[in-house]
Formats: sequence, structure tokens, C-alpha cells
Amino acid sequence: MNSTNTSPCGLSGKSKQEIEQFVTGLCLPSYRARQIHSWIYARNAASFDEMTDLGKETRQLLKERAQIPLLKLAHLQVSADGTRKYLFELPDGQSVESVLMSFDDRTSFTACVSSQVGCAVGCTFCATGYLGFKRNLAAAEIVDQVMSIQRESGKRVANVVYMGQGEPLLNVEEVIKSIAVLGQSVGIGARHITVSTSGIVPGIRRLAQERLQVTLALSLHAPESKSRQEIVPTTSRFPVDELMQALADYYSCCQRRLTIEYVLLAGITDSPDQARQLAQLVRNLHCNINLIPYNPTENRDGIAAYARPSLSAQQRFKRLAESSGKTVTIRLERGTDIDAACGQLHNRFEDEGKTSAAPRELDGQARAGSQGRAGYKDVTAGGAQERPAVKPKRPRARRS
Ligand code: SAH
Ligand code: SF4
Repeated sequence: MNSTNTSPCGLSGKSKQEIEQFVTGLCLPSYRARQIHSWIYARNAASFDEMTDLGKETRQLLKERAQIPLLKLAHLQVSADGTRKYLFELPDGQSVESVLMSFDDRTSFTACVSSQVGCAVGCTFCATGYLGFKRNLAAAEIVDQVMSIQRESGKRVANVVYMGQGEPLLNVEEVIKSIAVLGQSVGIGARHITVSTSGIVPGIRRLAQERLQVTLALSLHAPESKSRQEIVPTTSRFPVDELMQALADYYSCCQRRLTIEYVLLAGITDSPDQARQLAQLVRNLHCNINLIPYNPTENRDGIAAYARPSLSAQQRFKRLAESSGKTVTIRLERGTDIDAACGQLHNRFEDEGKTSAAPRELDGQARAGSQGRAGYKDVTAGGAQERPAVKPKRPRARRS
């Protein structure tokens, strides 16, 4: 069952057609929808008061019936390297995490978004997996993560990765819709979007039907079904050979190079034999390989289930995987390490019953795993969206 929930009143994240429906429902002329759409997406407006070409009465009516943001900022952490990690409250009081990161040149910003509250896949190394599945996000709730990040940070997001909480291809219709709105309204084209999946074959095939230019990333993590099943439980439904076939078909359909993600867990997925098997497995696939050293996450008992391999073990694995002839990279810990940590901030808030309340300061270092190590500072402690510690800046307008 799709338990998608949409807010009746937040307009940010909605498509042009949805805004039009809302506006005509208020008996306003449809050109008002174009104006509102442009204020939200091209000028990052956060309130109807900013829409000065709308007329006082119209603005008043809109204020009574709607608001701009769909999501509410519940918590913000800023790392020493500038990466910003957000906890957003959804209209029904649940919450999800998103991340804004930049790379070395600090000019290109990437948003990492969630597609579900929790996740049903239950990977044994993932904080979101411990949470279990709560519900799917609506397309607008996915898009408004990007818009809320832009409004809060003043940065223009250039790339979006579906690597936050949840399994995007178990919410594939809303994810496809959100990709369309990101393209049509936010101005982020499919070539700047990556969808990461634990390997849901029907979802891969459904996405392929759309023939979008998104990059598909497969979280493989083990080169054969038996060991994979122990860490990615859905593998029993989708064995590795079936997955490889689905990826090859995706490439034939969309002509987009794939990414194979592979988490390095000491003594579990990092042996030389596994590296050779991985190289053999992907030999004929059009792909790059991205090795992700494990970020220790705590399970419900406060125990990190695995260990990260030593740097020399990581390098050895990389060299052996390179025998495939593919480009192999090891994901840098700065910035991108918080992809893997997604779920921890949410779990902490849920454990302490704080998703709807004003957030308190987190202890960060000792219990927050990679977030602590990355030197995060809480900037919303004691205040949420209404009183952000970082003054919101307005990004440059973008043509939609
Ligand atoms: N559900 C999707 C997308 C979200 S997870 C998927 O699994 O692909 C995004 C990436 O973070 C995945 O590759 C996932 O395996 C990885 N990840 C999750 N927890 C991690 C951890 N503790 N350490 C390293 N990588 C992790
Ligand atoms: Fe779900 Fe991805 Fe986490 Fe696995 S790694 S539990 S698929 S979010």
C-alpha cells in the first residue's frame, strides 16, 4: 500500500499543474499560478508577502489558505567542512534528513535527499535500516527538501542524489514525479541527478521505461548473493545475476554509465577474493565503482555492528577491483560521509521524542558516529525554522 501523505497547504515542491489547480480552486485567474510558481522557484520566496505583484487582497486570501514551505526545519548541523545536515519535519509530524555538500571548489552544491521515512530493506549496517519503514514521501516532500535547503543556505543546488533515508525504487512513482518537478520547476536536469538503489529490480525496470538521463547507482556491497543476503536482506528476492541483467538492460535503454557502490566492512566484504569477484562481475558493465568505507552506526542497543577496514585494506581492495578496467574511487570521508550516516539524526530525535518539539543540543561526538567525527555543530539548538541561527540568504534566481 502506498501510504503517501501530502500537505494541503505547503506549495513549495508542488508542480506547476498542482499550483494551478490550487489557484483555480480559489477562483483566482490561472496567470496567478504562473506568478506564484515563479516566486517560489525562480526567486526562492518564502512567504506570500514577498509576492508584491499579487495585490494585497490576493495575498491575504493565499495566506489564509496556504503557506510556501511544505517542510519545517527541525534541526540543522553544520560540519567543519561546511556540509549542512538538516532534519526536516513533514506535515504529519514525521521527519527525514537531507544534506547539502560541496566539493573542493566550493562552487557546486549537491543535495542528498530522502525518499521515504525509514526503509523496509533493513541493511544491517545502515541507521535507516534499524528504523524500519514508516511511509513513502510524496514527490513534493522530496522536491521541497531541495527548495528548503536553498532557502535556508542561500546556495543554489546544482546536483541531487537520492541517497538519504529510504529506498527510492520502492517509492518509484513519486521519485519519478519528483525528478520531473526538479527538472521543470527547480531547473535541475536529469543529468545532474543520481538515484541510488539497494537493487529493486522492478523499480530499475520501471525507471528505465522513463528513459531519463539520471545516473543509476547500485548499492551492491557484495559480489555474490549468499554474502550479500546477510547484509542486504532483499537480495533473496533479487539475486545478483538478475540484478546485473537489469543494470545491463538499463544501460541499453538509457545509455547512462552506472555506478556500483560497495561498502567496505572489515572482515565481511573486504577480502581480496571478493575484490577479484567484484572485478569479474562488472567486467562487461558500463560502470564506475565507488568504494564506501563503513561509517560506524549504532543499532538500537548502541552497538556499532561492523568495523571499517584499515587504509591499507581499502587500498588493496581498490587495486584488485581495478583489474576490471573500471575507474574505482574510495569515497572521501569529508562531506559525503554523512550520506552513509543518514538516519542517525532522525533516530536520535525519535528516541528522545523530539521530532515535533524544539530541538535540544545533541552531544554529537560520542554517540553520533560519523556526524560527531566530522565535527558537526548544532546551529538550531533551542530553535527551529522560525529562529534559525544562520540567517537565511536568497540564492540567485534561476530560470525555470
Ligand atoms: N536506499 C538506497 C539509497 C540510500 S542509502 C541505497 O541503499 O542505495 C545511500 C548509500 O549509503 C548506500 O550505498 C548505502 O549502502 C550507504 N550506507 C548506508 N549506511 C552506511 C554506513 N553506515 N556506512 C557506509 N555506507 C552506508
Ligand atoms: Fe534502506 Fe539504503 Fe539503508 Fe539499505 S542502505 S536500509 S536500502 S536506506
